[in-house]
Amino acid sequence: MLLVESMSNAKAYSTQSATSPLALATIKRREPTPHDVQIKILFCGVCHTDLHIARNDWKGSTYPVVPGHEIVGHVTGVGAHVKKFKVGDTVGVGCMVDSCRECDNCKEGFEQFCEKGAIFTYNAPDKHLGGMTFGGYSDSVVVDESYVLSIPKNLDLAAAAPLLCAGITTYSPLRHHGVSAGKKVGIVGLGGLGHMGVKLAKAFGAHVVVFTTSSHKTADALRLGADEVVNSKNADEMAKHASSFHFILDTVAAKHDINAYLQLLKRDGTLTQVGVPAEPLDVQVFNLILNRRSFTGSLIGGIAETQEMLDFCGQHNITSDIEIIPIQKINEAYERLLKSDVKYRFVIDMATLQ
Ligand code: NAP
Ligand code: ZN
Ligand code: ZN
Repeated sequence: MLLVESMSNAKAYSTQSATSPLALATIKRREPTPHDVQIKILFCGVCHTDLHIARNDWKGSTYPVVPGHEIVGHVTGVGAHVKKFKVGDTVGVGCMVDSCRECDNCKEGFEQFCEKGAIFTYNAPDKHLGGMTFGGYSDSVVVDESYVLSIPKNLDLAAAAPLLCAGITTYSPLRHHGVSAGKKVGIVGLGGLGHMGVKLAKAFGAHVVVFTTSSHKTADALRLGADEVVNSKNADEMAKHASSFHFILDTVAAKHDINAYLQLLKRDGTLTQVGVPAEPLDVQVFNLILNRRSFTGSLIGGIAETQEMLDFCGQHNITSDIEIIPIQKINEAYERLLKSDVKYRFVIDMATLQ
């Protein structure tokens, strides 16, 4: 059943198929219902997931796709029952815009694992307008207040946008697996997620080792807070770290040799996969039974945990290292992501969406 009849036009960048470029389009947004917040989008980060879905890497994309789930902006309108926000507030929207709110996972703050299926910010069924949800490559969005976050006032707004996905996706597993002082922690891949992982693991007090395939990123990795940097293509450098890590976070978006990293875990160490290559990864079981290692995954974080992460970043002045782009450069940015040519998150200045 469609609940909303009233809607208005918004500008957006959308793609019509896995092989077409993103281009200017007009989309519909609902007028705020009583619990909704209407947001003028100022900046939106560019996550590698945007590219995976725009190009149907994981199959299951429904076109047109309007990507974007690292949204920051100002509140321009609120429904009659909205309590948390008022016009003019600086807010964020991450990867989810709704969930059932009744299942155990929702009630326990794990909306991303909603048993009825979380409603993701784009390419998920839109119960209000029908069709699919449209993301943040747009001038505005309307979101239920329960899925809207407050951005700490001291953070640069454009640089805070990537916290809404890259931030929470790294914060959540690092916290869950107890990353703290005295722990040796590896971050695999220095892209959008990876560079946030370095900053957060360092803020939690860990000894941080970056694994990169791009040797030219070494100086940046150290500047971002890494204690050591390993060229993952060099087997001798890798071997020096055998069986020494408490925890490794793997952010790599393409197929790669996971066994090379499992071998680096200590007894009872854990490797958590957050990067989602389209193809399966091959696990050599000996690398799990030896040292009783764990190989796990993690998906973004719940709404309360996302606010906790934003507040933590506010307190510690942590944001993303960004390259601001006009929206007309989005297709070029995707090509650069595929070449690992990102320092370290593209963020779209939505004022360029004309
Ligand atoms: P990104 O900015 O493109 O960074 C990925 C990094 O992985 C690259 O910069 C590169 O780092 C490394 N890499 C790329 N290709 C590689 C290859 N063939 N072999 C080894 N390393 C390679 O991407 P991102 O936005 O951080 O996203 C990373 C992945 O996480 C994507 O698959 C995305 O869909 C996924 N993701 C998952 C979640 C979740 O909740 N689990 C949330 C957001 C994103 P170096 O140059 O340092 O090697
Ligand atoms: Zn993302
Ligand atoms: Zn639920």
